[in-house]
Amino acid sequence: MEKEFLKKIQESLEQRKETIRKELGGFANESPETKKDWNARYPQFEGSGLEDEADEVEEYESLLSIEKTLEKKLKDIDAALEKIQKNSYGLCEKCGKEISKERLEVCPEAKWCSDCIQ
Ligand SMILES: [Zn+2]
Repeated sequence: MEKEFLKKIQESLEQRKETIRKELGGFANESPETKKDWNARYPQFEGSGLEDEADEVEEYESLLSIEKTLEKKLKDIDAALEKIQKNSYGLCEKCGKEISKERLEVCPEAKWCSDCIQ
């Protein structure tokens, strides 16, 4: 892959990473030991009625699932950045073929080519 293209991809990955980290930071704390693990903060609503508690639990559960999704994206982005460092970026993890540039432009953290994803 050309250096220019990789540079563009790297920038776009860094940008995505920043956006996701900000999003995660809005409702979760980063684990200080691993730096890759985030923990959603338990929401504390005003008042302390039973109804509020049920809402809190519900809110917390939905935060946990968002946290999982974002955390996974972050890991994929990190993995992609690592591949750029190791000069193995852009190869499908399933069949080993090159992933098309069009696909990488839309989804720079893609691990699989469009044939394998189906
Ligand atoms: Zn493939």
